[in-house]
Formats: sequence, C-alpha cells, structure tokens
Amino acid sequence: MIDLKKLEVWFITGSQDLYGPEVLKTVGNHSQEMANFLNNSAKVPVKVVFKSVMRSLDEVTNICIEANAARQCIGIITWCHTFSPSKMWINGLKILNKPMLQLHTQYNRDLPWGEIDMDFMNLNQAAHGDREHGFILSRLRKSRKIVVGYWKEDDVQERIGIWSRVAAAWYDMQGAKIARFGDNMREVAVTEGDKVEAQIKLGLSVNTWPVGDIVKVVNEVSETEVDKIVQEYNDLYLIADAGKKGGAKHDNVRYQARIEAGFKKFLEAGNFKAFTTTFEDLHGLKQLPGLASQRLMAAGYGFGAEGDWKHAALVRAIKVMSIGLKGGCTFMEDYTYHLDPKGMKVLGAHMLEICPSIADGKAKLEVHPLGIGGKDDPARLVFNVATGPATLTSMIDMGNRFRVLVHDVDCVKPDADLPKLPVARAMWVPQPDMKTGAAAWILTGGAHHNAFSQAITAEYIEDFSDIAGIEFVHINKDTSITNLKKELQWNEIYYMLAKGL
Ligand code: MN
Repeated sequence: MIDLKKLEVWFITGSQDLYGPEVLKTVGNHSQEMANFLNNSAKVPVKVVFKSVMRSLDEVTNICIEANAARQCIGIITWCHTFSPSKMWINGLKILNKPMLQLHTQYNRDLPWGEIDMDFMNLNQAAHGDREHGFILSRLRKSRKIVVGYWKEDDVQERIGIWSRVAAAWYDMQGAKIARFGDNMREVAVTEGDKVEAQIKLGLSVNTWPVGDIVKVVNEVSETEVDKIVQEYNDLYLIADAGKKGGAKHDNVRYQARIEAGFKKFLEAGNFKAFTTTFEDLHGLKQLPGLASQRLMAAGYGFGAEGDWKHAALVRAIKVMSIGLKGGCTFMEDYTYHLDPKGMKVLGAHMLEICPSIADGKAKLEVHPLGIGGKDDPARLVFNVATGPATLTSMIDMGNRFRVLVHDVDCVKPDADLPKLPVARAMWVPQPDMKTGAAAWILTGGAHHNAFSQAITAEYIEDFSDIAGIEFVHINKDTSITNLKKELQWNEIYYMLAKGL
C-alpha cells in the first residue's frame, strides 16, 4: 500500500538563547536521543527525525516553511525542554499546514530529590515551557494532539504511534483519487455529498468513469491472467465443489477473477486508491463485482458499494492507519437484527462486498444467486469474524460540514450456525447497549454503511477529524441520549460560528 518507514515526522524542540550555548547543546543532545528512541520504537511506524532547537522567530518560520514543502514530512512533534517564548512561534505556526503533536514530556523521568538545584530547574522546564507553547497554539486555534508523560513510557509511544499512523493516512489522502463506476444508488440520500467540499476539506478527488470503460478492460483480460488469480483462490480459500474446476459454477468463479484483474489494471493505470460500484449500473458486466471487490479491498483499495465514495475513502484511510496491525478493515453495513431482549445483536454484512482482512480463519469461496440486480450468480467469500472489540466509522455530509462518527462495538459469536446465509458476516453488540447505541447512531445521522475495523480504536478517528477539522462524534460505553442531543445541538452552533473563527 504505502511504506510507512519512508514517511517522516519531524521532532522540533523549543528553546531560546537566554540559557547560553552549553545548555542549548545539552537540549540538542537530549532531543536527538529522544527522537532516536521514538524512531526505533516498535510502536511508532514512521521515521522520527530530530531537526533542530528553535531559538528565534526566523528559525521557527524557516522550519515551518521547510516542513510544509517537504513531501515526506507528514507532521511535526514539538516539545519545549526549556522555556521558549511563544511570540517567536506565531509566524511559523500560522503557516504550518502539516499535522501537529505537542509532546508534553521531560528528559528526566524522576526528580533528583537529593541533587536538585537551580541549574537542573533551568534546564528541565517543560512543565511551564509547554504551557507557554500550548497557550499560543490555542490562541491561534491550532489543532494538535497533546501527549503527556515520560517519553519512554509505553503509553506515550502508543499515543505518538497512533497519531503518526493517522498523519500517514492524511498524507495518503491528499491528492488521492477515487474512481466511481456508476453514480449513487438511485434516490438514496446518505451516499450523496458535496464532492467539491470533500476535496477542499479532505484533499481527495472523486470522479466518475463510464462503466463501459471498465467493461472493456475486464473483457480484454487474458485467460492466463485469470488462471493465475484462480490459482491464488485455490491457495487461500476453501472453494465449494461447484466452484472448483469442472464444477457447474467454475465459470462464475473465473469471471470474478476476470473482473478483479480488469479493475486492478484500471485502478493501477489511473493511480486510484479507492473505488465504488453500483448494482444499478453494471451494463456489460455479467456479475456484480463481489469476490473481486472483496479481494481488491484486501489488497488495500478503499471500496464503497452503491456509489458510496465517502465510505470508500474511509476504508482506504483506515487501511493505511492500520498497516501492520492485527485486525482488518472493511466496508460494512448494519444489515439485520436479533432483537431477543436476552441478547440483542446486529448482523453486519453486505450484498457481497466484505473484505476478508477481517475473516476469522480460512474464507469459503461460494457461488450463489444474488436475488437483486438481475445478473449472473456471483462468486463471493463467506466467513465469520473473530470476537472482540471493533469500531464502526461513518462519514456523512450534514450540508454545512462533514461529520465523522465512531461507534465502539463488541463482536460476538452468532447464537447458532447460519448454514444458509451465503455472505461474509459479523455479529456485534453496540455500546453502551443495543437500544441506546442504535438510537445514538440514528440520532447522529450515521449512514447504514460504515468502515468496520478490529485494528483501530476511536482515538484514531478523533485524531483524523482533528487534522481534517471536521466534526467528531463518539458513541461508546458512556453515551447517553440526553447528553448526545445536547452535544449535537452545541456542535450545530459551533460549526456555524467556526466559519468565522
Ligand atoms: Mn449498501
């Protein structure tokens, strides 16, 4: 997908000339040591590069200009070892357009109780230096993540790691191209949205290509290319007898391999990072891209069904955030419920298009009729999902802003086998409970689609919305409908007023 170790986060330390060259040299050495430590941390997947100790307005302004221009720089971490008067930071911070993290730490973890003197006090001033720094950032309304604690602490490395993963996804999104094959599903509201505003706020471009163009590429795929992909199916999945070579539905399986190869060629040629399809516009395709969409998601592409480009963008972003982490990410839909008061739960699925990155064990490859769309029976992967925590993320267009909402859910085992259900599925219980959780999602206007992940937590999406400057709503174990109503009302006012801030 992308190589996170090629991306850099710049570590910049605030100070001033007041303390003399000896202290500044120590500040520089300590900063280098801390940046090296974070760079080598298994929890921080990007490169952490110490730049320099800031002593003046010109130095701050120059480093911010440099950070803005450096393509590989995906964000900056600032820390004030000593005091660093903030007026010298104003001009630089005003123009800085990269994500920012304010690290509130101290070179030494413990007070040297028996040794502490005024030299020590003058060198180790982050406790008030970072407050001066924090003031100007807040005065400038500069969005940033604040991480507090000793720099070697696991939790601190973890928080920095999460932010750097989100910064990488933000970097990936800038200039990202999303291809739509066909428009939104007719008459559906939530999959619509302002694509111009999305490019302004999120940096991604969303455009449509004629289905005929992709059909041409699909039809030109050679039988040898199809053979190669079918061999991969054999290696990776349990293929039902009818889908095996010589079986009644083998050609249907081969056709999905053909779709996969054709779509991949088209997406690679156009340098696209995500795509959408719609079952209402498949002219010339014999099947809905089921297995093909599943496999392309597993290869790192964002995907949205029914023309849902916002969730295609989210799936891609979460895939980048979670590179190398346990757990996958997929396009998902709240499909149907089990409403027994003794154990209410949601069955999540889609017509076909669920990414096997979330599969618990080996997926089964099956061919069944779709019952919608009037096409040939499509091949698809069928699987269950591991139990444990997951997040559902949705992005909607509120008319005057984008809102991102995250719902914490717990994946559970189905109460019984589902032998006749021919699609990949997940079962979950929403937090804080089924009734409150579903009411909260509906009140917030969350889509029936979401980006499901067992790799990321709500913290990732909170960092993402801070960087993007869009609304964030988190439905979790503490959610109450009464408080959520107020939060949404306050947000309405905030986002109207914020346009003037
Ligand atoms: Mn759908």
